[in-house]
Amino acid sequence: MMKDDYRLQGLRRRLVELLRTKGIVDDAVLSAIGRIPRHGFIDDTAFLEMAYQDIAFPIPCGQTISQPYTVAFQSELLGVKQGIKVLEIGTGSGYQTAVLCELGCKVFSIERHRPLYLLTKERLGRIGYRCNLYFGDGFKGLPKEGPFDRILVTCGAPWVPDDLLGQLKVGGSLVIPVGEGEEQRMLRIQRNADGTFEREDKGIFRFVPMLQDKAK
Ligand code: SAH
Repeated sequence: MMKDDYRLQGLRRRLVELLRTKGIVDDAVLSAIGRIPRHGFIDDTAFLEMAYQDIAFPIPCGQTISQPYTVAFQSELLGVKQGIKVLEIGTGSGYQTAVLCELGCKVFSIERHRPLYLLTKERLGRIGYRCNLYFGDGFKGLPKEGPFDRILVTCGAPWVPDDLLGQLKVGGSLVIPVGEGEEQRMLRIQRNADGTFEREDKGIFRFVPMLQDKAK
C-alpha cells in the first residue's frame, strides 16, 4: 500500500467534514471514508492530493473514480449492515468496493473492463480487502451468488435491469442511477414481500454509462 502521512490524513479528515456539511449524516459511512486512503486508488502519483478533493477523477479504460460525495450518498442510501450480501455493478477503481468492505458487508463486484478488473483485484488484495471480484456484464448480475440484500449500480443505467430486480431478497433494495443522457435519476427500489417493488427518486447525479454486452 502507498504510504499514508499526516498531510494526507489531514486532507482526508477535511474531506469527511466537507461531506458532513454537504448533508451526509451516516457516521459509519463517514468513518469508513475517514479510514480509507483514497490516494491509493489514484494511479497517477502526481495527483495524490486530488484524491481528497470532492471530485470524480479519471482512471484507466476511460472510466472515473466516483466523486466522494456520490460514494457517500450511495453508501448512505444503501443502508447496509454488518454481514449482509451486497452486489456492486461497476468495480472501477475499487474505492466504493473498499467502502462497502469497511462497512462489514460481504461484497461481490462486477467490472466490464478486464484491465480494470485485474488492476483493482490486485490493488484491493494488496491493501487487504477481502471481496469477490468478477469480470463480466453487470446487466446479468450474479445469479449463482444471489439473492442479495443490496445491489448498488455505480454507472448510469439506461433502464432498470430485470435480472438485478430478480436477484434482490424480499426487503432488499437496489440503488441505481437511471437515465440515458448525461444525467441520471438516483433511484432506490425496494422489493416487497408480495412481489411488488417500491421506487423512490433521490435526485440527479452524473455517471459514466452502464453498457450492455460489452465486457472486454
Ligand atoms: N465504483 C467505481 C465507479 C467506477 S465508474 C469507483 O468507485 O471507482 C463505473 C464503472 O462501471 C466503470 O469502471 C465501467 O467500466 C463499469 N461498467 C459500465 N458498464 C458496466 C457493465 N455493464 N457491467 C459491469 N461494469 C460496468
